[in-house]
Amino acid sequence: MRVRKLVKFAALFGLMFALAWGATAQTEWPGPDTAAIGKFQEEEQQHSHVMEVVGYLSDVYGPRLTNSPNIREAADYAVKTLGSWGLANVHQEPWGPFGRGWSNDLFVANEIAPRHFPLIAYPKAWTLGTPGAITAEVVYAKIEKEEDFGTFRGKLKGKFVMTAPLRAVEAQFEAPGHRYTDQELAELAQPRPVQPPPDQGTRDRLTAQQQFNQKLVKFLTDEGAAAWLEPSPHDGGTITVLGGGSRDPKEPFVLPRVAVAIEHYGRIFRTLEKHIPVTLTVNIVNKFYDENLDSFNIVAEIPGTDKADEVVMLGAHFDSWDSGTGATDNAAGSAVMMEAMRILKVSGLKMRRTVRLALWTGEEEGLLGSRAYVKEHFADRQSMQVKPDHAKVSGYFNVDNGTGKIRGVYLQANDAVRPIFEKWMEPFAVMGMTRLSVRGTGGTDHVSFDEVGLPGFQFIQDPIEYEPRTHHTNMDVYERVQEADLKQMAVIVASFVYMTADAEEELPRKPLPKK
Ligand SMILES: [Zn+2]
Repeated sequence: MRVRKLVKFAALFGLMFALAWGATAQTEWPGPDTAAIGKFQEEEQQHSHVMEVVGYLSDVYGPRLTNSPNIREAADYAVKTLGSWGLANVHQEPWGPFGRGWSNDLFVANEIAPRHFPLIAYPKAWTLGTPGAITAEVVYAKIEKEEDFGTFRGKLKGKFVMTAPLRAVEAQFEAPGHRYTDQELAELAQPRPVQPPPDQGTRDRLTAQQQFNQKLVKFLTDEGAAAWLEPSPHDGGTITVLGGGSRDPKEPFVLPRVAVAIEHYGRIFRTLEKHIPVTLTVNIVNKFYDENLDSFNIVAEIPGTDKADEVVMLGAHFDSWDSGTGATDNAAGSAVMMEAMRILKVSGLKMRRTVRLALWTGEEEGLLGSRAYVKEHFADRQSMQVKPDHAKVSGYFNVDNGTGKIRGVYLQANDAVRPIFEKWMEPFAVMGMTRLSVRGTGGTDHVSFDEVGLPGFQFIQDPIEYEPRTHHTNMDVYERVQEADLKQMAVIVASFVYMTADAEEELPRKPLPKK
């Protein structure tokens, strides 16, 4: 009895001690290093390279579809630039297979009858081009279900085919650009309102729609249609353009698929409704690249001092969709992260941990590059087998929500980092960074770290014109990038990375997820 009591007491005392020690350890996290932050700000104000990098990535190399010739050339530029800044261990790290590359080398689409006008339109990635310039009529084939195939079998060969009905276009009463108000930020900091998951019926309808679309693509390809004209989401000349075929070399090619601005789709559609034939001339040169099916991530480092075997990572995806120049998604984020590395290096400040930049590819197809990297180095999210280096990652910081400046951090439900980030954020309140959100956010590369229990964070960024203006559209171009916002981001990212790299401890983690 007595012995047991003693053990109990000792255990209780031990627990209290551990709790007290834990609490002290937490309060001992240092605040922001204002001298270092001052250095970063000074460098960014006086000698910024951030817009130069955005300019090269977007204007010079253009859209950076994964495994396209553009992205490979842009990567060589990034490696050369990072090397010229004196960063260590700069290289491309292969991962794969991703699949074939694709590029659009020529696109001309004009209505030639009853009137002449050029179409605002773009080819979808991984679709075929035309065999030279094709002049043919447009057919509206109202195909909404498999039973409709029979009606049009044998009637579409050599034609430009429209299958989608016309949708209404509303006036735009709201300005496209927006910064978060204090109230919006406060709401964003709260847990996401609970939404019921989509019911079985909705999910079934979605799956059925996807399956039908695949059958429709195959039907139109087999029927020998000259091209499939599809109305794009959005309006005002802004159009969303994604992929339309497979990057898997074992999959068959699909017919030319063209995303058309709703206004021009509408003009052709309404003309046909009046029983006036419409003729187009379309010439598309698309190329596929099968020589190297693997892709790569770009890596660069600043070696640490006494904790050099531990790392702080920062990253952004380097790839984009094809129609614009991937300026806000995500040349902006890539340039910010490269610039953060540059100002950390130029500052000459020593950091205890190694700082590692990673610019990912294959993000747009499902976070493929960052997931491959995390699996190779840290942990397998399927088996939840962790590698030794899993213990050596203090944190990962990501920028991929457009051009908007940083307003806070999504904590990804890792509430133990809140008191640390709260302090680190203080000097940036004057620059608009004021909120930590308990929420997680998805859809980009910090998820690859978070899902294996590593502290991965995406910053809260002002939406600016992201939706619907630039995100995956033909208008994601240099003009939409806000220089002052990018500079603010570079300074904040450099500061958070610096403080993480130089801290006594690694950032607190959530429990390891179950497999
Ligand atoms: Zn993105």
